[in-house]
Amino acid sequence: MPTYVRTEKCDGCKGQDKTACMYICPHDLMKLDKDGSETGHAMKSFNQEPEQCWECYSCVKICPQNAIEVRHYADIVPLGASVQPLRGSDSIMWTIKFRNGVMKRFKFPIRTTPEGSIEPYAGKPKPVLSDLDKPGLFTMSSNLRGDKSQLIRL
Ligand code: SF4
Ligand code: SF4
Repeated sequence: MPTYVRTEKCDGCKGQDKTACMYICPHDLMKLDKDGSETGHAMKSFNQEPEQCWECYSCVKICPQNAIEVRHYADIVPLGASVQPLRGSDSIMWTIKFRNGVMKRFKFPIRTTPEGSIEPYAGKPKPVLSDLDKPGLFTMSSNLRGDKSQLIRL
């Protein structure tokens, strides 16, 4: 079951050429309808191939307007129920609506370091572009604790 966009919430990522949902979708499914010729809603995104949607929730989580929802298979989320995440900078809140009207919220931490603080190369030598042609991986020798005799030839 695919995602769909609540047009009253979507702001087209304020006219960016590539919207957040287009950027994140691993299957290139989300598309901005700039002039409204495809959906009748100008500057709103839509899922252009709903049958291809993996329901990975990436676009749902990244949308800054919380405008994207997923229509689930009824055996996972029965009709009338919904599962909606809201991602913050350090946690994610899942709102579960049951079809009998009960609503529950679950909040989980999603990181152990402040957003933007990670230094991917901390403690590592700077990568050298010419090493791209060599076999092995960037961290391989340190993972083998310096025993280079065990280096695997790829
Ligand atoms: S990420 Fe959200 S607000 Fe931005 S274009 Fe997609 S649906 Fe609209
Ligand atoms: S749920 Fe995943 S596959 Fe489906 S449109 Fe969103 S990002 Fe793409």
